Amino acid sequence: MITAVAPPTDDGLFILESCHSTWIFDTDRRRFRRVLKGLAIDVHAATTAWRPYFELETDPVSESFVVLLNPEGSRLLRSWRHVEQCPQCGGNQTAELSIDELRSAALA
Ligand SMILES: [Zn+2]
Repeated sequence: MITAVAPPTDDGLFILESCHSTWIFDTDRRRFRRVLKGLAIDVHAATTAWRPYFELETDPVSESFVVLLNPEGSRLLRSWRHVEQCPQCGGNQTAELSIDELRSAALA
């Protein structure tokens, strides 16, 4: 079952961890960017540009999430949340960024 995502934090940023990147959703402005894990020491160099999106849907059962890029849903991105004992990557991803680093990257 697909459910709407939980309300974001007070600064409007909603953060999802996938195995290979951290997704930062600016829910106020309906845009997102990704911080790629393990590629660079410099978080800014590993951060993608903002992209607009239409809607974010998460599936609490399978840990998958879908980013709809247009209202029709014909363009979308699907990924999986990185969790403990992660079935997608085996939990071997070690590159972790602090929330502060993520926020500074998001707002840069
Ligand atoms: Zn994983």
